[in-house]
Amino acid sequence: MYLIDSHCHLDFPDFDADRDTVLQQAARQGVERLILCAVERRHWPRLWQTVEASAACYGTLGLHPYFTDRHQPADLQHLREQLIRYRQHPSLCAIGEIGLDYQLATAQPDVQRFYFEAQLELAQTFDLPVIVHVRKAHAQVLDCIKRIAPARGGIIHAYNGSFEQAQEYHKLGFLLGIGGAYSWPAARKLRALLPRLPLQQLVLETDSPDMAPAFAAGQRNSPERLPQLCRVLADVRGDITAEQLAWHTSNNLCRLMGWDQPAPELHP
Ligand SMILES: [Zn+2]
Repeated sequence: MYLIDSHCHLDFPDFDADRDTVLQQAARQGVERLILCAVERRHWPRLWQTVEASAACYGTLGLHPYFTDRHQPADLQHLREQLIRYRQHPSLCAIGEIGLDYQLATAQPDVQRFYFEAQLELAQTFDLPVIVHVRKAHAQVLDCIKRIAPARGGIIHAYNGSFEQAQEYHKLGFLLGIGGAYSWPAARKLRALLPRLPLQQLVLETDSPDMAPAFAAGQRNSPERLPQLCRVLADVRGDITAEQLAWHTSNNLCRLMGWDQPAPELHP
């Protein structure tokens, strides 16, 4: 299997005790690359230290909507400076994760939107894709990315919207990150949607250490679980083998990021 974890947080302290082992095990199972998504300014150095310690790891820079009350407007200026600093770095792949999270009790919609739009503008300026976190805000996110359309598109992480919204994202050049939520039998709506989504729009992700799949309930999630997640998703779709799904989703992500695509002869 040729797999890429399009969204994880391997820099989190949850992995301090065994990060190298996790990376080795993941590589052994075919996880060729991983994208580490940034959440707040004070953790950017930790993330980039992790990225630079492994050739398989790629990194982003950005301000996560969940932590809006920790961000300062000055962080946007710092973000711009860091983007200038890392602009030529081969492992910088996107701005993220950014977005809108209206499920939060303390949502502060206007403040979230301020940071989201400012970071979409930076994606334009620096010609980078974006990795977008959306909860209960697909209409608003679509509105923002229609107005400030980042030319490189991006990924809607942990997709949980409708079929129609998926089509709108598709038109705007956005892929959909599919994580372990569908592994739970109770996720009926998502499991019914997944076979209808076009294969060329999907990428795989773990969001580890969060979003533990049903087969590892209550445990730390990890990039090592990606092959199993891929198998479960292939089962839910029912039209493709896990090996084919791995190849296609990796190919989709490589196309978005401008990376070398998996060799056609590896296509199962
Ligand atoms: Zn995340």
